[in-house]
Amino acid sequence: MQSPSDMPVPCAACESPRARPFGARRGWRYLECLDCGSLQLDPMPDAETLARAYRDEYSRAGHYAGTPEARNAAARRVFQGIGDAYAAHAPAGAAGPVLDYGCGWGGLLDELRARGIPCEGADLSRDMAAHTRAQGHPVHEAALEALEGEGRYAGIVMAAVFEHLTDHAATLEAARRLLVPGGLLVTFMPTARFARFFGKLFRLGLLRLPLPEIHGTLAPPWHTLLISASGLRALAGRHGFDIVDLRPGPVQSGNPANEALHHLNRLGWPLLGERWPLCPCHLFVLRKR
Ligand SMILES: [Zn+2]
Repeated sequence: MQSPSDMPVPCAACESPRARPFGARRGWRYLECLDCGSLQLDPMPDAETLARAYRDEYSRAGHYAGTPEARNAAARRVFQGIGDAYAAHAPAGAAGPVLDYGCGWGGLLDELRARGIPCEGADLSRDMAAHTRAQGHPVHEAALEALEGEGRYAGIVMAAVFEHLTDHAATLEAARRLLVPGGLLVTFMPTARFARFFGKLFRLGLLRLPLPEIHGTLAPPWHTLLISASGLRALAGRHGFDIVDLRPGPVQSGNPANEALHHLNRLGWPLLGERWPLCPCHLFVLRKR
């Protein structure tokens, strides 16, 4: 357990110092940015500690339970959505492969390969990297910042990774270096509005009550930042990216509540767009300027 810092923490998304405690869960505290609405852990866990936890514990930590095959099957709709979003914006004859950063058990790489898109993965989990290599995918066992070179990739895709980062600026800078000019960064992740909406509703507005898990979105220490759309616009803009597409994230299949949510979002999104509160996740396409 870490104690909350005494100093105001600037928002990792929009850099505003205006924040209020949103709630605590499992000994960790989330702050709510009063300007962009993003939720972030305070304090941010130390990157080295988290990297060690990912390498040694994450694949068994229960954050993502089930066999690799079951996990990939439940997330197939997400992987297809990412593939669709990438294909919709990829320049014709894109130079270079696509990197799946945080490739996990390899389901998204399978999807990209099935579409004929050259691809490779990177992951910090030793078990996941070994499993995905055994499926025939090249996998780097490294953080994005540690990958060398410039302009290596036509695209970088991240499925449920962004919310895990500890230094979002460094990751975006690494992505910009590794992408070709005009290259795409496609990211699917849980976002702030859904967690804020249910985090308040389930506690009847009493922010001092412990935070519920809320569809797995409030999962410390793994989920460091649940960004808002406006927060991502600010952050991406500071690091040389434009958001060229914003879509509701497909909801994983596997239980009736998820199915209901998936279909409800197809009705609500056309009405309210990014103000619709029932999308646990969104899919963003960023283009390197
Ligand atoms: Zn903010």
